[in-house]
Amino acid sequence: MNGEEKIHTLVQELLFLEEEVDETVKGIIHDHVNTCEECRHLRTDIKKTEIPTIDNSSSKAHITPLKSLRKLNIGVLVFTILVRIGVLLYIVFGNSFETYPSLFEDVLQASITIFYLPSAIFLLLLTYIFLKPKIFVGFLVFDVGVLLFGSQFISYFI
Ligand SMILES: [Zn+2]
Repeated sequence: MNGEEKIHTLVQELLFLEEEVDETVKGIIHDHVNTCEECRHLRTDIKKTEIPTIDNSSSKAHITPLKSLRKLNIGVLVFTILVRIGVLLYIVFGNSFETYPSLFEDVLQASITIFYLPSAIFLLLLTYIFLKPKIFVGFLVFDVGVLLFGSQFISYFI
């Protein structure tokens, strides 16, 4: 896909939001629409369907939930990352490893199973519901990695 095709694909999406985007983006859309017949037709079709609504409050009503949904998704993403960091910090610093230096890795593995596994299941569920499949798979791989190799990894550094 070359640059012009990329712009064409983006413009096809953005035409529906044309009134909401900022001036620079509007300029890019206009430039492309002037050179692309397909987008010009699409824009005419969109304009036609918009006229009967008289005021554009209905199109605004579409935008607002979209924006708040995006904010919610970012909130979920940040939350899942912070909880993972918190649980891992608790596992590493909450145990008094000095008492049983020989059992260090075992204690670590046990803590990971007891504390990290249930949190990870809960967070993965949240991720699965709210976020993109790619992000879910990323976290799944990370969590399986922590469960399988976390204790070796951490004890290597401490
Ligand atoms: Zn186009």
